[in-house]
Amino acid sequence: MKHYMFAMVCLLLVTACKENTSSLEIAVDEKLLLNAIKIISSDDMEGRFFGTEGNYKTQAYLAQQFDSLGIEPALTAGSIQKFPHTFSGKSRQRRYPIINPAEDFSNVPDTTIIGGNVVTMIKGKLEKTIVITAHLDHLGVKEGEIFNGADDDASGAAALLAIANYFKDKAPQHNLIFAAVDAEEIGSFGCTYLLENFPIPIENIVLNVNMDMIAHNDASELYASGLYHYPQLQQPLDALKGSKIKLVYGHDDPNDSKLDDWTFSSDHRVFHKQGIPFIYFGVEDHKDYHKATDTFENINQAFYIEAVRLIIEAIEAYDSFLVSTSKDVL
Ligand SMILES: [Zn+2]
Repeated sequence: MKHYMFAMVCLLLVTACKENTSSLEIAVDEKLLLNAIKIISSDDMEGRFFGTEGNYKTQAYLAQQFDSLGIEPALTAGSIQKFPHTFSGKSRQRRYPIINPAEDFSNVPDTTIIGGNVVTMIKGKLEKTIVITAHLDHLGVKEGEIFNGADDDASGAAALLAIANYFKDKAPQHNLIFAAVDAEEIGSFGCTYLLENFPIPIENIVLNVNMDMIAHNDASELYASGLYHYPQLQQPLDALKGSKIKLVYGHDDPNDSKLDDWTFSSDHRVFHKQGIPFIYFGVEDHKDYHKATDTFENINQAFYIEAVRLIIEAIEAYDSFLVSTSKDVL
């Protein structure tokens, strides 16, 4: 009997600990994360501009990494969702110039480029789905200089791998779709195509978690933006504890004169326009933002690891929280 009681107490203690998981206990594969951001932001990927060799190489790398983690493609055609984008007139001339364009660009022929989103899924117990996004493209090479985009947004793309790796054996409630989307820098064309050609009915999407620039902040502050629009999503974030970095809310109120409104600043806007709630994780702009100096050497590695840990904790919290919250309530 004594032994039985002792066993019961131990079981209760274990259960209690599990319920109070703090972010410090969440195991992030740091090696996988840092290796991936280093590769995605390496000179080899040539700044990942839409439609370039370096961009295609990045798609292939991400697809292969998801595959080696055992994460299945979300689409029957495989994990790379190819899509066409046609440049016309002025925008075509800017990117692929012809000699002697007419003033109204009427003699500039259209050019269609094939892009690619890398889309994978961990099946949940429910039909409802959380979509986790980050963009794989960046600014490419300008005047001979490679814009490596380590923070923007190799950090988010590499985080997708670490997050998928964390959840792969966890049997989440919701389907978790991981989407490394293309062509964010030129107008979120990849994310738009993804939502128009989604592997499941988009009515089943209960949340978008978008990550764009999560690896570089000297004050150790990470923003969770979007609560102005979706205040019902705050409670699970408030409950997060134990992080070494500071989670800050804001950058989502059009009436706030002090902070820029980030509601339409990255791919989460594509979900927002469809009325799908989003939380966007990102840092304040910094000295290397959209510069050739946004390199692996200039990120804050310790901050980045903690940011990913915190985002995993947030996704885990939402995975439980949203089960009891119907989309109508949201
Ligand atoms: Zn970005």
